[in-house]
Amino acid sequence: MSSEVLKPKIFEQLKTVIDPDLHTDIVTAGFIKSVSITEQGVVDLTVELTIPTCPLQSKFKVEIEQKLLSIEGIKKVNIHFTSRKRAGVQVSQQNSLNQIHSVIAISACKGGVGKSTVASFLARALQRSGFKVGLMDLDIYGPSLPTLMNRPHANVAIIDEQIIPVEVDNLLTMSLGYILGDAPAVLRGPLVSTYTSQLIHQTEWGPLDFLIIDLPPGTGDIQLTLLQQVALDGAIIVTTPQTLSLVDVTRGILMFEKLHVPVLGVIENMSYFICDNCGKKHFLFGNGTADLQKRFGLPILANIPLLSNFHDASTKSAGEEYNTIWEPLIEQIQREMGKRRANTLSSPEVNIKGNELLIDWKDGKYSEIPLAKLRRACRCAYCVDELTGEPLLKPEEVPEDIKIEQIQPLGHYAVSIFWSDGHTSSIYPWDFLKSLVPPHP
Ligand code: ADP
Repeated sequence: MSSEVLKPKIFEQLKTVIDPDLHTDIVTAGFIKSVSITEQGVVDLTVELTIPTCPLQSKFKVEIEQKLLSIEGIKKVNIHFTSRKRAGVQVSQQNSLNQIHSVIAISACKGGVGKSTVASFLARALQRSGFKVGLMDLDIYGPSLPTLMNRPHANVAIIDEQIIPVEVDNLLTMSLGYILGDAPAVLRGPLVSTYTSQLIHQTEWGPLDFLIIDLPPGTGDIQLTLLQQVALDGAIIVTTPQTLSLVDVTRGILMFEKLHVPVLGVIENMSYFICDNCGKKHFLFGNGTADLQKRFGLPILANIPLLSNFHDASTKSAGEEYNTIWEPLIEQIQREMGKRRANTLSSPEVNIKGNELLIDWKDGKYSEIPLAKLRRACRCAYCVDELTGEPLLKPEEVPEDIKIEQIQPLGHYAVSIFWSDGHTSSIYPWDFLKSLVPPHP
């Protein structure tokens, strides 16, 4: 059968293969880059996935093969998978980070929540999943990687102005702590900014699937300066239920979004404790992050309990006994990254008309939300008590003629609004806006 006859049939079948994260078929999503058919009925297909480590690849492979082989005249299917390039790689990154598929920052609003521990064990779990991984500790306040890697006095080699990562059981690592060692605090200040830049731009990572960057906690100028130097594919916020402050999380989200870094989700650490005797989960500090999903539309990527043996990540097997936590976490991270990298997920379009916010949901439906109603519906920590859920904002305090000063979509999950009454912490997930004023055709 000729290629002209088979091609439409192939596309018809490919259009039935659905990406479960993008909720669209792989043809519409733009994944099919080339199709060629030989006279013997062999199909060569190039499929471009959003990220090279896409966990859906094997699912797509099986489904595509099965569907194309069901077409009469097709004998064999060869699929060549490629992936989209990272966006926004800056000139300064081209030497040191351009061979890295995905750069992910692990951040926290406060110190001591287990950010470095989670970053290290996540790096080990990624490594066990077969990825080539690097881990860079830029926590200037207390670099803990040397301790976690059991390398308190690592010697850092510099060859041709390139900093060579310290390899610890096949994991490439670099930490300010390796360089500053036990330098007294007074010396650290001035050295820190020089060294962080050098670590970012001159560490010779070589080709990696993932580089995990452990950021200093907080959302201040230091973090901003660091973030401006690296093109990140995504950020993950680590928090614990007892330190969870929605005000801080809001600041964190806004910091990343300002720099166009998608926040992939939140990891809740020290969520619960599992009793040795009865195996029951005890939520000692309540279930704080459940609220995050509702308030910000952000996925909770994992809930990590209090764990024993959670302080030594110096071997590849570190944390292996907790694979039931890492495996779904890794899959979720990759899928969230894929969603962010796909250009096909179109965010709704927002416009202000008079005293209403008009939302075009891009599916033929629209919502018009009166601005005063929207302001009164704000659920930030200043407007709704984060512990009790009691409203703090009195509806009568909101003037009917309130205006929007600034509006900024946050990824494809929410929109941030700065109001004329000086309120700047409103984040409305799209789903919440849909429930506030149901869309109509
Ligand atoms: P951060 O990087 O946020 O400052 P660290 O990763 O240094 O925090 O962790 C602070 C302390 O908490 C460390 O002693 C670490 O071993 C411990 N820790 C972190 N997460 C857990 C956990 N899930 N279970 C038990 N101990 C933990």
